[in-house]
Parts: sequence; C-alpha cells; structure tokens
Amino acid sequence: MQEITHALVGLTLTYILGLDFIVGFFSAILPDIDVLSNLSFFNTIFGTHRGFTHSLLPLLIITFFLCNFKNKRVGVSFFIGYSSHLILDSFTKMGIPLFFPLKTYYSFNLGTSSDPNLNYFFIFLSIFLLLNKKTIEKAITDLGPTKTRFVVYSIICLTFITLAFYGGIYYQETTIDNLLKNNEEVYVSIEGIVCSAPKYHTTKYVNTFEIFSICDEKNKSLIVWRFLNKNNNKVNLYDKVKIEGMFTKAYKWPEITYVKNVEIIENNRC
Ligand SMILES: [Zn+2]
Repeated sequence: MQEITHALVGLTLTYILGLDFIVGFFSAILPDIDVLSNLSFFNTIFGTHRGFTHSLLPLLIITFFLCNFKNKRVGVSFFIGYSSHLILDSFTKMGIPLFFPLKTYYSFNLGTSSDPNLNYFFIFLSIFLLLNKKTIEKAITDLGPTKTRFVVYSIICLTFITLAFYGGIYYQETTIDNLLKNNEEVYVSIEGIVCSAPKYHTTKYVNTFEIFSICDEKNKSLIVWRFLNKNNNKVNLYDKVKIEGMFTKAYKWPEITYVKNVEIIENNRC
C-alpha cells in the first residue's frame, strides 16, 4: 500500500477514536522504514522489504514499552496505527510475514501495493470516516466502553484468524518472459540456468547473502538474491535451478527478492 494511504488510515482511526492522531499517523508508516531507509544496516537487521517490521513482534514489543514507560493512550494509539499498516498490507499480493521469523507470508491477495483501486478505496473510506466523526463518536459512546472493546478485539481476532486460514504463499508456475511482461509483484516458481557468477556478501551483522541471475533459453535474465544460512546450498555458474520466491519490479532491475526455496536440478560443476 502507498505511504499516503497508510498515513491517512492511521491518522483517521486514531482521530475518530479520540486517541493521539500524531502517533497514529507516524506509527502507520513506521513499518515501511525497511524500504524508506537505504542504510544497509536496516536491510541487514530487517531482511528484505516486509520482513521483521511487518510482523506481530515489533507491534507487541513497542506497544508494551509505550504502555508501561510512556502512557496507555500513546501505547493504544501506536497499536492502532501500526496494526492498521499490517492489515492494509495483508490485502496486497505480497502479504506480510505475520509470525516472523516464520517465513510464511499471509495475504488476502486483492491487488498490488500500488493498485489505484485498493488505495483509493481506503483513502475515500478514511475521508468518509473523518467527515462523519461525530456520528461515529456517538455510535461508539452509545455502545458503551465494554461493547466497543469487544467489537474492536473481535475485528482484530477475526482478521488474524482469516489470515491464518487464507494465508500462505501461492506460487505461480511461470516463465521469465511472462514475468517481465505481465507482473509487478507476484510469487513465482521458476526454472532457469545460473547465468552470472554468484556473488556473496557477508555483512558485519553476520548475514550472508547471495546474488546471481538466472536465464531462460531466450537469454532473458532475472536477478535473484537471498539470505543464506548454514543449510542452504550455494549455487554455481551454469547450474540448472528451480526457485520459489517473490518476483518484483519495484527495484531497478526485475528481481526475485524473498526466496523461499532454491532447488538445484542439474549440477554443472565441471
Ligand atoms: Zn508496508
């Protein structure tokens, strides 16, 4: 989802609930610090875009600290703003790794992050809610605090339960040619030959990642980068590989960024 949509939804929700809307505004864009920041420090800590920052962990940890060391109002405002970001991103194809460090991404798969219909829907919904603040406030007061809390918790729980059932990544079998033509971001399963010598980078925070390209018969190429742990097989030039991961055109070159699995079909070390 676009930053403007996140910011507006965070601000609106906290404002109509009589909370701290400045905290709501900023907490709603905070998860995307992993993409706003170009510092390699952030990439190392948070992994690829939509890693750690898009999970329950920071939401619960920061809310806990704010409630205990600042005050409840700021804590709850933060919770509403930050969780609105996670919920909105879960509507997009790319999904969110809700239970990070588990790497399953949950998604309602309604469109891409930049899908204008999806963004406009939430922008207009926010404006509608802002214009009807008084009516909503009255409805909330009429419900009473216990019932209101019950409704809010039910919505949050239902969202997470639906995500858990609905979720998981759906990998679409496709070709490099089709990817380059048709998609902005999509989970794919794809075969190719490793056609550039893999480069390894180890950061001072211990993560090692590997970058290489795969090519198809027509020499169309695609960049792949993945974090390596001890159990990963490193690939070699000219290996035939099958890769499951998230394809995106969001960066300078079309890439597979979030990599779930690399299978070496034919080992060509000669
Ligand atoms: Zn995000």
